[in-house]
Amino acid sequence: MAKLLPIITYPNKILRKSCDNINTIDNKIQKLTSDMKYTMQEKDGIGLAAPQIGQNINLIVINTKDGPIEMINPKITKKSWKKEVADEGCLSIPDFFGPVKRSQKINVIYIDSHNVRHKITAEGLLARVIQHEVDHLKGILFIDYLPKKTWANILPEKK
Ligand code: ZN
Repeated sequence: MAKLLPIITYPNKILRKSCDNINTIDNKIQKLTSDMKYTMQEKDGIGLAAPQIGQNINLIVINTKDGPIEMINPKITKKSWKKEVADEGCLSIPDFFGPVKRSQKINVIYIDSHNVRHKITAEGLLARVIQHEVDHLKGILFIDYLPKKTWANILPEKK
């Protein structure tokens, strides 16, 4: 049975660390992956990155139109020059939204939890979600792209 994982929220420092690659995909990683997918869906998220549940490892899960997928050691290999602006939110920054400019189209390589290598092209919302989640693995949050005056008075500085 998949279990609901507690979500780490801003300004917890775990969200600011850069993550390590996963070298071995074992039962622990597979279990974590399925718990993360379950948690994402229960919380109505469209993406979730491992630091958000307290693990500084390169693992994200994404909701796609074909259902949730996991990306282990994801790497964006190409970003389009064409950018789009849209409002984003984050399960780790509840009840706050702001406009972020992202590449409209990206290429990503990753491994799934069965050790299969993938190379995909993503566009629009899917490309946006992947860029947001991959940022998490580098300790970057979407508020970093917004003028500080838009969130400084709303969000806590330190915990
Ligand atoms: Zn997020």
